[in-house]
Amino acid sequence: MTDELILIVEDNAQNRKLVRDLLKSQGYRTVDVTTAEEGLEIARVRQPSLILMDIHLPKMDGLTAFKLLRGDPLTQRIPIIAVTASAMPDDVKEIIEIGFDGYQTKPIHVKEFVALVRGMLDDRDSNRGQ
Ligand code: MN
Repeated sequence: MTDELILIVEDNAQNRKLVRDLLKSQGYRTVDVTTAEEGLEIARVRQPSLILMDIHLPKMDGLTAFKLLRGDPLTQRIPIIAVTASAMPDDVKEIIEIGFDGYQTKPIHVKEFVALVRGMLDDRDSNRGQ
């Protein structure tokens, strides 16, 4: 399945374009927003197959957005990957502990990133029991 919709929440224009182009080249559909607040709204309305959540965002941060998405019956089952510039062990630990389905550090490593996204969507398919 490669026509799945992926929601990108990223405030940096360059990163947003990079991720969008990369995912489109792999056959995915994308929708991108620049704030967590917009991300919450789009996630509820569009029901993406996966969310890529930047952690450092203006106003609401990605960790807070994650908790709200998980607390909402409309979005609680959508897998969420944290995308963060920080590879500090404490930050990664917090991302894992809070319950993100995966994380990707910036700058994005193309092959790893594509494999992570694909793995996440394939898992979801197999969990649905075909
Ligand atoms: Mn950011």
